[in-house]
Amino acid sequence: MCSPQLPEGSYAPDRPADVDVEPPVPDSDGRGGMGPLMMLTGAIVLSATTLAVAFSPGTGGRFQALLTAIHGHVVATVPGPIMPIAARGAEVFLSPWLYLVMLICFLAERYFPARAEQRFFSVGFVQDLVGWFLVNSLLRVALIGAFAATLDTLFQTRLSFLRIIPTDVWPPAVGLVGGLLVADFLKWLHHWIRHKVPLFWVFHAVHHSQREMNMFTDLRVHVVEYLIALPVVAVPLFMLGLTDITVIWILILMESYSRVYHANIRSDFGVLRYVFVTPQSHRIHHSSDLRHHDHNFAVVFSFWDRLMGTQWDDHTEYPDTGIRDPAFPHETSASPAGALGDYARQTIYPFKMVWNAAMGRGWTIGGADDRN
Ligand SMILES: [Zn+2]
Ligand SMILES: [Zn+2]
Repeated sequence: MCSPQLPEGSYAPDRPADVDVEPPVPDSDGRGGMGPLMMLTGAIVLSATTLAVAFSPGTGGRFQALLTAIHGHVVATVPGPIMPIAARGAEVFLSPWLYLVMLICFLAERYFPARAEQRFFSVGFVQDLVGWFLVNSLLRVALIGAFAATLDTLFQTRLSFLRIIPTDVWPPAVGLVGGLLVADFLKWLHHWIRHKVPLFWVFHAVHHSQREMNMFTDLRVHVVEYLIALPVVAVPLFMLGLTDITVIWILILMESYSRVYHANIRSDFGVLRYVFVTPQSHRIHHSSDLRHHDHNFAVVFSFWDRLMGTQWDDHTEYPDTGIRDPAFPHETSASPAGALGDYARQTIYPFKMVWNAAMGRGWTIGGADDRN
């Protein structure tokens, strides 16, 4: 495989004038037959029962078992040796707090939308839900679980001397905040790297391809991206020796918060924007406008971008989002079958780009810039 042919930062030429970022054409059945009121009621009932049952003595186990059964198609793919890692992942995805955050996102999208014309069941939403949540989770659990288990074993058997900070004796809140800060900076760093190295960007571009930002867009992540990110984030966290419960809470916080700022919400969170990433600031990161490129890399805390000089300071802009590669297989159908086909094409596409570059044809396929 060739090394990237373009120097850092130079693979984002000006957008050709004839390349438009067209909004996707929704199917006529895009609403799925359910009105917003029904969705709102359903989300409230789901979240309320989740919280009520999960916190009722003696029923939490049954509830967890029910959700595990619902997600059984994922768990069933997990090989025996990596079940502990999968179980940790399940604790994150079955957390009632995650469902509560999703309800809040739903209400905020409904009453404070960044794009009022965007329907809840947009083509982009169905693609993120069916392709990237339901299907990609299979790959995520199987491949990432195996990789994480390998890293964990390697660290325990060969690198445990690197565990120099005894965080397990710290108060839980200190361990949680310390671990969150470390994990968050590492995520800033590898996010920056994935934008700067063309070989990594072609996979990250899939995440940026969403034109209808929604709370499930955080799951539109190519499986290769997880493989790149895991060693960068996991090994330093192993070195901190955080307890399992601390790690689970860090993951729940990050997973929940990522839903919030990917949602179609019009808010910059007031003065809190100086501490946290917001729906407005992350929309800038996803912007299709060249002026915004390579800004706002942060994942939870926005001060990393301020420290590194990559913060976009205008907090009033809500630009269109998406990438400018005309050959990218954008989703066009809100039907589940269409979403599956588009998911397959979007997963394969970055490998085509890598092959193209390896053959000396550069990092584009469609003739325009591949970089937004
Ligand atoms: Zn990015
Ligand atoms: Zn994003």
